Amino acid sequence: METTLLLGKSIAEKIKTEITLEAQSFLKQTGLAPTLCAIQVGEEAASALYIKSQKRAAESCGIRHDLITLPITSSEADLVKEIGKANQNPKVHGVIIQTPLPKTFRADYVLDQIHPDKDVEAVTTSNLGRLGMNKSGLSPCTAGACLRMIEETKVDLFGKEAVVVGSSKTVGLPIFLLLVGKKMTSMICHTGTFKAGTFESHVRRADVLVVAAGKPNLVPGSWVKEGSIVIDVGINQLDGKTVGDVEFESAKQRAAFITPVPGGVGPVTVMMLLKNLVACAEKQRT
Ligand code: NAD
Repeated sequence: METTLLLGKSIAEKIKTEITLEAQSFLKQTGLAPTLCAIQVGEEAASALYIKSQKRAAESCGIRHDLITLPITSSEADLVKEIGKANQNPKVHGVIIQTPLPKTFRADYVLDQIHPDKDVEAVTTSNLGRLGMNKSGLSPCTAGACLRMIEETKVDLFGKEAVVVGSSKTVGLPIFLLLVGKKMTSMICHTGTFKAGTFESHVRRADVLVVAAGKPNLVPGSWVKEGSIVIDVGINQLDGKTVGDVEFESAKQRAAFITPVPGGVGPVTVMMLLKNLVACAEKQRT
């Protein structure tokens, strides 16, 4: 079988072109560049790297990226106050809170303080709820990236079977909701499915298989349905190499489309953040 690799870099380039045009048009009409405000508490090395690449990607598309760093001694109330300021600032169109937050902070409570219209990562209860109600709104970036990659195949999804492995609020659950919204017959597998011993039979039925468990080679290639679409979200380190949750080489023999790891979903995720930002900016203008 001829297998097509869904390469994140080329899909990301395509999205980047779209975002750049949207950002230019916004600037022309409002005199403002769409602006993302990232807020962090303390300066962690891993966060600093991520923020640097976020800023580089944003600026390469004509998006302004402002970083606010609160001292590590800040309280939860200090952070909430800063989010409130960004919510009120008409020159800020999207807010992102760098995680992990200090252990004493209530992460869900803090994230819910972002105004839903500025919630570029779609992490608020309100935006997840909208997704569940199939109302148009923002999608969490990784979930949006998976859907975009699936749609790039141009395969008709209507009524086909989708299986999502992983039920996290930020990845698995929103992907599931997006696929239900596409009228796919969809289900989620998680540790409960694994323990019940029914995991393999569900995975084998998937016309679209999205795996986001964070377990190296959890899905053997022999379980992948012939001619299916396989989106591997997992990022794991194994024997000094980065691998996904699906056994890539054997899965590639059976799938019609498959994402590699690394180089699959990751580069598209960053672009979906910026895509959400220009959508937020546009919504606030009208
Ligand atoms: P998580 O730990 O919050 O959730 C993992 C989910 O997988 C849970 O629902 C759990 O029930 C399920 N699971 C775990 N073991 C299982 C098993 N044996 N059988 C069936 N289900 C099982 O993780 P997350 O934040 O959703 O991330 C998942 C993976 O995706 C990680 O590897 C993470 O690094 C990666 N990730 C990648 C991107 C990207 O842009 N490529 C973005 C976010 C996360």
